[in-house]
Amino acid sequence: MSNKTAIVIGAGIVGLATARALAVKGYKVTVIERNTKAVGASIRNFGMVWPVGQPTGKLYERAMRSRAIWKAIADASDIWYDECGSMHLAYHEDEWTVLNELQDAFKNAGRSSTLVTPEAIQSKYQYINNNNLIGGLYSPAEMIVNPRKAIPAVALFLAEKYRVEFVWEVAISSIQGNKVFYGDKYSVADIIFVCSGADFETLYPDYFKQLPITKCKLQMMKYSLQNNSDRIGTAVCGGLSLIHYNSFKEAKSLYLLKQRFENELQEYVSNGIHVMVSQNDDGDLIVGDTHEYGHTFDPFDKHHLNKLIEAYLSEICVINSWQQTETWHGIYPKMTDGSTEIFLKVAENIFILNGIGGAGMTLSFGLAEEIIDNM
Ligand SMILES: Cc1cc2nc3c(=O)[nH]c(=O)nc-3n(C[C@H](O)[C@H](O)[C@H](O)COP(=O)(O)OP(=O)(O)OC[C@H]3O[C@@H](n4cnc5c(N)ncnc54)[C@H](O)[C@@H]3O)c2cc1C
Repeated sequence: MSNKTAIVIGAGIVGLATARALAVKGYKVTVIERNTKAVGASIRNFGMVWPVGQPTGKLYERAMRSRAIWKAIADASDIWYDECGSMHLAYHEDEWTVLNELQDAFKNAGRSSTLVTPEAIQSKYQYINNNNLIGGLYSPAEMIVNPRKAIPAVALFLAEKYRVEFVWEVAISSIQGNKVFYGDKYSVADIIFVCSGADFETLYPDYFKQLPITKCKLQMMKYSLQNNSDRIGTAVCGGLSLIHYNSFKEAKSLYLLKQRFENELQEYVSNGIHVMVSQNDDGDLIVGDTHEYGHTFDPFDKHHLNKLIEAYLSEICVINSWQQTETWHGIYPKMTDGSTEIFLKVAENIFILNGIGGAGMTLSFGLAEEIIDNM
């Protein structure tokens, strides 16, 4: 155990996971967040803890470790979660071929998944569209949290269990030595972690400029069901998601599917659209998303992209009773060189942890634990 102090900048999932890992090692941790609560990518997402998207090996193990930490925290502090697994659906023969190849690859790797017939899907999942459905790949490992509630609840848990101190509404403007400055005041710690998400501008802009990192803007939507006690039963994805996650590259005919999508669904591919649905504890359906890359984004959402998502959604789900209630976008940093994150030592006692892309809810807890364990 350590008597040392740590400051973590940013109360998104990366900051929280880092705070947890440091606190477990005995650090006296303070998290400093510029807003009154976390309002970044970490509360704008699907809440999908998503091992199925991670390639077999280190990243899959990290995802499963993160999942276990999520569960332990949730169980200890009454955070809602749903171990509903995920269903990837095939409406075309090439999608079905890929799902079969993935089933073989997952089986060989000791990962559990099952191929499911349309009949079995229809009998269990009333909101999955059975028209032209060839089958699905069900994976039991995926779990949903409601990020809008879970992220603040994790902060509360860390405060109560590990005495992590949270300082809200303080924007850190610079770091010098062991001091983090807010205006002309400062706080001191032995070790400082910068977990500032998509803000590359405030702290260490020169480092960020040199890194192979960019930002990604994603448009999202929320729907309510006529009967909000209905459950969709699992997280649902269409064929487009198969070209999105690294773990699916194991399917040897994926390139053929990608070619068809590029020919037939050009607008989807060029806007990085794939369609996924998760359901939260309020019964709301979280649907997305688009992927637009750059450093500065148009702040306005593009209605026609949401319409494209909705059109695709109606092919995989029975949505006639769904009512759209919200739209928004989120922005996350993403590495451009294929790395899964950036962990950078900028001085003896100062570290940047960022660039975890679209998998922060899935990987942060495990990643932060590995990093702190190895320090
Ligand atoms: C729409 C969308 C859907 C997604 N879906 C999923 C999903 O289902 N599953 C999954 O695993 N991942 C998902 N992701 C990815 C995941 O949300 C991100 O990887 C993760 O939230 C990044 O966390 P973060 O802590 O780095 O960033 P953030 O949540 O943005 O947190 C950074 C925090 O740092 C604070 N900050 C920045 N600078 C300062 C400063 N100078 N002083 C004080 N505070 C500062 C900010 O205010 C902010 O609160 C999704 C992302 C988006 C946008």
